[in-house]
Amino acid sequence: MKMKMKMKRVISVILCAVMIFSCTASAATAAKEENLPSFEWDGHPVIFIQGYSGPILIRDRGLETEEQVWGIKPGDLFKKLIPNLYGILSSISKYADGDTAPFVEQFREVSAELIDDISMLPDGSSKYNIVSFPSTVEEASITYIKDELNGDGMPFFQDDFIDTMAKTVPEEYIYVFNTDWRRSQIDNSAHLAEFIDSVLAKTGADKVDIFSMSHGGQLTATYLYYYGTEGKVDNAVLNSPATGGTTLVTELLGADPINFNLEELLRFACVMLNIELDLRWLGRLLPQEFLNSLVKTAFNEVLLPHAIYFGSVWDFMDIETYTALRDVYLDPVENAEIIEKADKMHYECMANMGEGLRRAQQAGVSINIISNYGTQLGTGKKIDSDFIINTTHTCGANASVYGETLGKDYVQKNTVCKDASHDHIAPTGTVDASCCYLPENTWFVYEQYHTQTWFDPYTRCLILELLLTDNITDVHSDGRYPQFELSQNPLDGVYVRFTDSKTGEYSQQSSEMLIKSLTDSYSLNILSVKINGVEQNIGENLTVCRAGEITVPCVIPEGTDRLKVEIRYERKNDLLSDPFTRTIYFEYKD
Ligand SMILES: [Zn+2]
Repeated sequence: MKMKMKMKRVISVILCAVMIFSCTASAATAAKEENLPSFEWDGHPVIFIQGYSGPILIRDRGLETEEQVWGIKPGDLFKKLIPNLYGILSSISKYADGDTAPFVEQFREVSAELIDDISMLPDGSSKYNIVSFPSTVEEASITYIKDELNGDGMPFFQDDFIDTMAKTVPEEYIYVFNTDWRRSQIDNSAHLAEFIDSVLAKTGADKVDIFSMSHGGQLTATYLYYYGTEGKVDNAVLNSPATGGTTLVTELLGADPINFNLEELLRFACVMLNIELDLRWLGRLLPQEFLNSLVKTAFNEVLLPHAIYFGSVWDFMDIETYTALRDVYLDPVENAEIIEKADKMHYECMANMGEGLRRAQQAGVSINIISNYGTQLGTGKKIDSDFIINTTHTCGANASVYGETLGKDYVQKNTVCKDASHDHIAPTGTVDASCCYLPENTWFVYEQYHTQTWFDPYTRCLILELLLTDNITDVHSDGRYPQFELSQNPLDGVYVRFTDSKTGEYSQQSSEMLIKSLTDSYSLNILSVKINGVEQNIGENLTVCRAGEITVPCVIPEGTDRLKVEIRYERKNDLLSDPFTRTIYFEYKD
């Protein structure tokens, strides 16, 4: 009986969530036109490399049997799910009663066709004759994608970003690089090298600029490792790159239970869709453990047996995990080809990534990495991340265990940056950037989610300027772009700094704080401000109007070198919303 009640709740909550997302997904709006920068074009074509599983895959291209076998379209997913909805829900119901078999069977059935279409063989090659799409240089330009392909092949959720780039770079000079993301980055980077040659040949330019994200960032790093000295790239920006893999994948594929935080997951989804919905209540309502168990079962029972032949899945593992799991899952004879490439990727490229990127940098490539920190890894492991990728794995930084700091007596490593006068420690005391692959060219955005740059005005401007100009040489060169900054997405609510100091810093003389509203959808009521747990006397009825700012007085405690500031606020006229708290850290600067 109890289980039946639980099931009803699960079903109603899932339906409710589906409805909310289908109604609001279309409400996502572009970032405000007037805020978008444009620059003088330097004549370099831009190559855009998207994240994992972004590119469309086509089977038997040019033959009568031609068919698109991969390309995420939410509408198609719904079409596939709806006829099976009753079966899915009843199998979930049985799962709740302890019988997991019907759920596994159902999931296997729903995904069978999809999985078979993109299967890889034990030697790491494709079961079917598959190519990524758009493929040729002609097809891969934004002009062609828009005019001839009706937008098919546009990177997911990135139309606005491309439109902004197009204010500087003519659309026929913006290309989307698509590759068979199932393969190893060893193969993909060779493919990218060919593609860059074709773009240069077609446009007559001497160099290209590259913007990449996530798995595409790992691909770009691999390309720069092997081909970075060839002089064909001017600016490369790697946004949340999976350079050293991500523990998320091993967590999903490994034997231990996972513990996705649903409140955080829903927030992630809202940021991704640029909607300011407060769904914390929904996260609290959902039976967390149960849903985590469902996801884990689906992965282990249905996806794992296929995923182990994807070169890319192995590339997602860090070196230690790779070695351990390779010996469990891969056969030295049957899977020799997969092992050969994965070994090369890990022991040659990933193990020496810093060296490889610096070699490319010295050869003239301006390489810049955007990393994010301050969020726990999605699967619940105590790892500092952007929810999807370990902060350490994006850029080589040393990051503390999530929820802890590097320690009061921690000394900056200075293994790569040898300049002891540089402060490469985050205001949170959780990240040391002095040991990054590129300490002077890695930016860290606090509490920014994986690749969700577009709706964050700060990171968006930084990336565009790094990619399209040579204005910013490193993290010291422009006060507008310090090495450590806060995410400024509308859902983050408020931005805070001391009026007499730079971002993330304070002095003993600081006596006033600037609180800026990041949202223009709501006015905010500031309910309280605490510094190291002490409530500040800020007066009553403090309202920050939409996208406005106020200053409040504050008292700095003596003898501290780090402050924890907690701003508690509510959104005016928002019926569903409870108060929010944003917690921000500051470090002492004379
Ligand atoms: Zn330095």
